[in-house]
Amino acid sequence: MERRKIIAGNWKMNMTPSEAVALIEKLKPLVATDSADVVFCVPAIDIIPAVEAVKGTNIGIGAENMYFEEKGAFTGEISPAMLTDAGVKYVIIGHSERREYFAETDETVNKKVLKAFEHGLTPIICCGESLTQREQGITIDWIRQQIKIAFLNVTAGQAKDAVIAYEPIWAIGTGKVATTEQAQEVCAAIRACIAEIYDDATAAAIRIQYGGSVSAASAPELFAQADIDGGLVGGASLKEDFGAIVNWQ
Ligand code: PEP
Repeated sequence: MERRKIIAGNWKMNMTPSEAVALIEKLKPLVATDSADVVFCVPAIDIIPAVEAVKGTNIGIGAENMYFEEKGAFTGEISPAMLTDAGVKYVIIGHSERREYFAETDETVNKKVLKAFEHGLTPIICCGESLTQREQGITIDWIRQQIKIAFLNVTAGQAKDAVIAYEPIWAIGTGKVATTEQAQEVCAAIRACIAEIYDDATAAAIRIQYGGSVSAASAPELFAQADIDGGLVGGASLKEDFGAIVNWQ
């Protein structure tokens, strides 16, 4: 099955609203393509001007996080309905920085994934091992557990539309990209895990990104792998390089 590539930028805590609009104006012509889905995941306060700025282009706007409740006394949080009403289509869930600094767990990731689907948002579900886990040889076991918990009670019909981002923690923001073989091995294991939970058709449909220091130089080889359906890109998504990454072919 031919899966459409999806290349998403994760801006993290960068860009004020006016800087966001300026960056989108600069990147717009560089990321124009018919052959992949292009997503900019931006800070919450940038969402409204970003949605306005991408009107009429091929760029979809994503959030970097959301809460799993509908509404109410959750000071500082953003609800799924707020995102959809603002024109957001995607939401990153369980990024390793959220797990590390904001105490997110596999269980909160699962609650958020379920809520995102309930509201028609496409979750970009992050998983990844630490360097210690890789050195211990438990990478695949660890990732399988993250995936199984993230997809608890998610239907096959929902799962086929999910995006999974495999991001080895040791490769994020370090300039140390995983080897093509390492990235492909884990992405293939994730697809096999989805086939076990659901079926072969769901596994063939779901899109799996690699993330971790993706650059214009490393993207072509990574994205050419059988089980890698694009990338989640941090640092390079704020630069003109993102255009080259999107047009990797
Ligand atoms: C990320 O933030 O998801 C990421 C992969 O960052 P970087 O590309 O900077 O390593």
